[in-house]
Amino acid sequence: MSTKRLRSPRFVLISTWPWGHPSFMTRAEKAKRIGEILDELYPQPPIPLRHENPFTLLIAVMLSAQTTDKKVNEVTKNLFAAASEPSAMAKLPEASILEMIRTVGLAPTKARNVRRTSELLVERHGGDVPKNLEQLEALPGVGHKTASVVMCQAFGEPAFPVDTHIHRLAARWGLSRGTNVKQTEADLKKVFPRDTWIRRHLQIIYFGRDHCPALGHDLSTCRICGWAASAKRIREEASKKHSRKRKGARLQATTQQR
Ligand code: SF4
Repeated sequence: MSTKRLRSPRFVLISTWPWGHPSFMTRAEKAKRIGEILDELYPQPPIPLRHENPFTLLIAVMLSAQTTDKKVNEVTKNLFAAASEPSAMAKLPEASILEMIRTVGLAPTKARNVRRTSELLVERHGGDVPKNLEQLEALPGVGHKTASVVMCQAFGEPAFPVDTHIHRLAARWGLSRGTNVKQTEADLKKVFPRDTWIRRHLQIIYFGRDHCPALGHDLSTCRICGWAASAKRIREEASKKHSRKRKGARLQATTQQR
């Protein structure tokens, strides 16, 4: 295998996969092809978090850190029945909020942030969720990713929220060499057209959930990594496969000796 990488980060040489042909692809070309596959698989990706308005979406996203969407949807059923507007949520005691969300990770901190954020929405924004990234990020428990999700999914504003899953896939697909989510977000915004950002964010999340196991990736059978994997990833997977084989052979030899 003789896969080479050019110095320019914008070009990737895909050269020796048995199922591919030697070709240069710019990141934009890769992104275009990936976008076509994602559109085919997830033409209209739904928002996975149950919500009724921008406020309940904001709260659901705040609760989703280090927790599954399924778990968040379970707890928000009661929470939003009790309060689906900032003024009502601000009136709930923190202990009541905690009781309703206690099965999600980091529940005490989240309960405190949900209540304080609701109070601040009333104090600073007249009980509305601001359609402004900086104002959202100024709320407790609302980071850049959460604010971006609200901007795009509640208000339809172009934003590209990047979490660790999207960050990892962007690297695996050779779309970014960012060492943090901020750099990856900037790279993805460059390669995907602005009017696709909102659905790409969701599509990549769904693709990762449906197709990407934590271990044991078979690049040769994968619809995207099969042709898009970065040279670094190809080397890493080949070396993992090699060590798995050696481990298997050693195990077999030990079993036979017994
Ligand atoms: S090989 Fe396929 S399944 Fe594995 S990370 Fe790449 S896209 Fe996901």
